[in-house]
Amino acid sequence: MSSVKNYPTSLSVPLNRTAARVISKGTHYIPPKKNNTREYWETPPPLVTSVTEAVKSLFGTRKGSLTVIGYLGSSSSGSARLLVRCDCGKYEVRLSNRWRKHSGINNYCQFCEYTQKLKFAHLSDGEKRAERERTEKLKRD
Ligand SMILES: [Zn+2]
Repeated sequence: MSSVKNYPTSLSVPLNRTAARVISKGTHYIPPKKNNTREYWETPPPLVTSVTEAVKSLFGTRKGSLTVIGYLGSSSSGSARLLVRCDCGKYEVRLSNRWRKHSGINNYCQFCEYTQKLKFAHLSDGEKRAERERTEKLKRD
C-alpha cells in the first residue's frame, strides 16, 4: 500500500524532466510595447485659422517641453485639438481640456517621453519624479 501512497497524483509533482517541461508554464510571447504610435509631424501641418478666443488664449502657453502653437479644429469629443511643438522640434496634438488640467511637469512629445523612460528606467518612481523636477528647474533657470 505504501507504493501507491508515494505515486504522484498531482501535476505539481512531475514524473521526470520531460514531464516537468510539458506541464511547466515556460516562457510565453510578450508582444513588444509599441512606442511612438501617436500622430506627429516633423513640419507643422496646416492650421485652422478660425479660432475662438478661449482657444487663442492657450496659444504660446508652455507645459514641460511642449508649447501650443496653433489650432487644428475640434475633436470628436468637442474639445479643441491644439498643435504643440516639442523642444526637440516635433509637432503633436494635445486636447485643450486636458492641456488646461495638465500640471506641466513631465510633459513631452512621445519621442522625448520614450527617451525619458529609458533614461530613468533604473530609478524608482520617487527618484524619477525628483530627477524630472530637477531637470525642469534647470530648464527654467
Ligand atoms: Zn520631443
